[in-house]
Amino acid sequence: MRIDILTLFPEMFEGVLHSSMLGRAEEKGVLSFSVHNIRDYSESKHKNTDDYAFGGGAGMVMMPQPIFDCMDAVLAGETARRILMSPRGRTLTPELARELSNEERIVILAGHYEGIDERVSELIDDEISIGDYVLTGGELPAMVLVDCIARFVPDVLGCAMSAEDESFSNDGLLEYPQYTRPANFRGRLVPEVLLSGNHAKIAEWRRQQSIIKTKRVRPELLDRAELSKKDKDFLCSLEESEQNIH
Ligand code: SAM
Repeated sequence: MRIDILTLFPEMFEGVLHSSMLGRAEEKGVLSFSVHNIRDYSESKHKNTDDYAFGGGAGMVMMPQPIFDCMDAVLAGETARRILMSPRGRTLTPELARELSNEERIVILAGHYEGIDERVSELIDDEISIGDYVLTGGELPAMVLVDCIARFVPDVLGCAMSAEDESFSNDGLLEYPQYTRPANFRGRLVPEVLLSGNHAKIAEWRRQQSIIKTKRVRPELLDRAELSKKDKDFLCSLEESEQNIH
């Protein structure tokens, strides 16, 4: 998969795209990244990329000309899924990331300042938000999106299953607690069942812990989670024991 990023701050991507999992995926040839500086395409004498908003208001707006020309040059007549990072977009979910991981090529536009001239929307297929808060620029959201998509691209993660057995992907539940060595860390013990070697018991304990964690931290996820009859019985028993305590 090829990913192009259009930004006013290309230097922000250096460490993230070329380190860790993303860097290794690039070395393996599974992913390739190109970061383009929108400013290089400005036709103005001083390479301006923003101006005051018509109608007034605080802050500057990114002008259409450098973005249109940058997009044209990057696509060079080819097609790609074109994404604008925006708090006004639909919220990034694992389902959306998985869908995008099937694309051959993605172009991501990172906004800055107060935002982008609305006429740029004709260049865009999807507006994507990383959450209901506003950041200073689209660079961090673009990196979040790239990382999230990359996890679903085959051969990016070491173990093919690891993107499936995670929070949200695991039937819509949060992940169970994880432990590693030592079994006794300064008197804090790992739960016995994890040392038992009994895989069925371990799986049952993990499922129950996922339900407990989800109920405690993100109860609204339980409405959409895929729960078996056994899960539902366990949830009922949790609720009953809570009622008894109160
Ligand atoms: N004035 C805009 C608004 O209220 O919707 C916010 C502009 S924000 C300061 C500048 C840029 O940061 C946006 O164009 C977008 O690219 C990016 N950005 C900020 N928050 C974001 C979010 N939650 N998700 C995706 N992109 C975001």
